[in-house]
Amino acid sequence: MKKEELKMTAKIINGTEMAGAISEELKEEVKSLKERHGIIPGLVTILVGDDPASVSYVKGKQTNAKDLGFYSVQDNQPADISEEQLVSLINKYNRDPLIHGILVQLPLPEQINENRVIYAIAPDKDVDALHPVNAGRLMIGEAYYYPCTPYGIHQMLIRSGVNLDGAEVVVLGRSNLVGKPISMMLIQKQSKANATVTMCHTGTKNLAEHTRRADILIVAAGRPKTVTADMVKEGSVIIDVGVNRIGMTPQGKAILCGDVDFETVKEKAGLITPVPGGVGPMTRMMLMLNVIKAAKVNAGKNSR
Ligand code: NAP
Repeated sequence: MKKEELKMTAKIINGTEMAGAISEELKEEVKSLKERHGIIPGLVTILVGDDPASVSYVKGKQTNAKDLGFYSVQDNQPADISEEQLVSLINKYNRDPLIHGILVQLPLPEQINENRVIYAIAPDKDVDALHPVNAGRLMIGEAYYYPCTPYGIHQMLIRSGVNLDGAEVVVLGRSNLVGKPISMMLIQKQSKANATVTMCHTGTKNLAEHTRRADILIVAAGRPKTVTADMVKEGSVIIDVGVNRIGMTPQGKAILCGDVDFETVKEKAGLITPVPGGVGPMTRMMLMLNVIKAAKVNAGKNSR
């Protein structure tokens, strides 16, 4: 048999299907919360301005929330809202007993300091887990909420049967949203973690030398084709977090691609996530999971 015929194409991790399965699990949980405790999880998504990507992300989150039977509020604010006005809106939702989770869609317009807005969210309602209290808890291995994208990546790995204990993980990207928290999650001395994690960024020398060592490569760079086939190890697990808009269909729909050169890398990897249909749907479902956790905290049904 010729060498090419022996070549295996990677198994694709279908994030849409996986998120659908989790949604069914969560529906049961929401039903039981309502029936046993009279609690309906409440989520507010705050959208500032009308950036098309943000509009579409928020729409997806609202669809998931409604589908699960949450009490959900979509709060649209104009792009020229002041930081003070936005902070006072958040304080209103901090006090609202029907709202358990507050999500402010990022990025925010230039006149607003994002950190000040994130710090205004009550840590118990911070379902994006970006508040320093939640980031700090994650760092010391005491997390209650995990940031949604890293949480989704972790679930994808676990549910795909990937062994994390002792694995060589390389994370490409060091953002507070993805790179740093996924590294923190996987490095913990805990079950379903305990990996050896290397973080890479634009200051990394010889990037490919690091990525080629990875049993699991997590790519969150925000640039198409940052990872090509020559940069990955045969049989490795590739998680592509990137969402890059590279054009529009004649129907006006955005054409998306990830950070990994999917077509060539899938011929070498063992497992790979596609874009779209990979990490994205899992991110949204983890937000829903965090809202349910928040509802339980709020009702004193869960110890922390
Ligand atoms: P970010 O804040 O822009 O961070 C990008 C990181 O990648 C930075 O640390 C940067 O290094 C590093 N980087 C960029 N190009 C590189 C290169 N050529 N070599 C080495 N390192 C490089 O982005 P982010 O918020 O983490 O998001 C990353 C991507 O994931 C974006 O496409 C975003 O849209 C997507 N995303 C998707 C989801 C989802 O649910 N699917 C959720 C969140 C984000 P420096 O620090 O040195 O600049």
